[in-house]
Amino acid sequence: MREFVETLYDSYGQLFRVDEMLFEDKTGHQHLVIFHNAAFGRVLVLDGIVQTTERDEFIYHEMLAHVPILAHGNARDVLIVGGGDGAMLREVSRHRSVERIIQVEIDDRVLDLCRRFLPRHSAGAFDDSRVTVLIDDGLHFLQTTERRFDVIISDSTDPIGPGEALFSREFYAACHARLNSGGVLVTQNGVAFMQPEELATAARRLAAVFDDWHFYAAAIPTYVGGIMTFGWATDDAGLRHIGLAPLDERFIASGIETRYYNPEVHRAAFALPRHVLRTIGKQHNESRP
Ligand code: SAM
Repeated sequence: MREFVETLYDSYGQLFRVDEMLFEDKTGHQHLVIFHNAAFGRVLVLDGIVQTTERDEFIYHEMLAHVPILAHGNARDVLIVGGGDGAMLREVSRHRSVERIIQVEIDDRVLDLCRRFLPRHSAGAFDDSRVTVLIDDGLHFLQTTERRFDVIISDSTDPIGPGEALFSREFYAACHARLNSGGVLVTQNGVAFMQPEELATAARRLAAVFDDWHFYAAAIPTYVGGIMTFGWATDDAGLRHIGLAPLDERFIASGIETRYYNPEVHRAAFALPRHVLRTIGKQHNESRP
């Protein structure tokens, strides 16, 4: 029997039984493994780090897609950076009001192999006529495109290897430059308890670029070690404090069926515990009544 031990942290990690090895190879950018585990279904691993599993991916993808799109309320142009497994595209494309979706992924092999081995992640979203997929580095794309977006979602790997560029100040500045007025950037920002330095660095860099920034949170079992934080950055401070009534109205109007997201969870996700506030250099949650 084979086992997979995640190598994200030196002295702590998670172990999966590999019930069936489906694919293992180097892609040119990363070492990619897809296996089946009885508890979590199919699991995608890049460079020894768990990216997504069939069983718990809905938490992560619903929270990174629906929170910014529903807070914005009129998102027509959405950019996904990374997200090669296709599940972010699946969630974003559920919003019928979104007119154009661009996905910029650095590694075409992740796209191809996930369509083949993790078809439930994209669930046909790549065939949506509103979608354009580009193979490029997210930072390079943002620094060279003339397009603008209402919502940018950074669905990146951790800040190791090709994902490092997506946590740089240059990346945040390029996102800021390509957002329409009232636009919002959200980012995958790691597990706060286990990766406090990455969180503190991201907070400083976002604060240097955006008028309003914060983090919101969700616990995702296979991102082990507690709550994952998602970066939130915009020049429109009102977006973060949107009331329950407009969110309810937008969520119902969207007709989207979710398993994790709802407007109450949306608002509550911005309430961070004190150790996380301390890490990001804030005294309180800045919530409004
Ligand atoms: N949900 C995952 C997590 O939390 O770790 C992220 C999943 S998704 C598979 C991450 C994707 O980001 C990968 O497909 C990877 O190839 C892509 N990626 C990494 N660095 C990138 C870059 N600089 N530009 C665009 N895509 C990048």
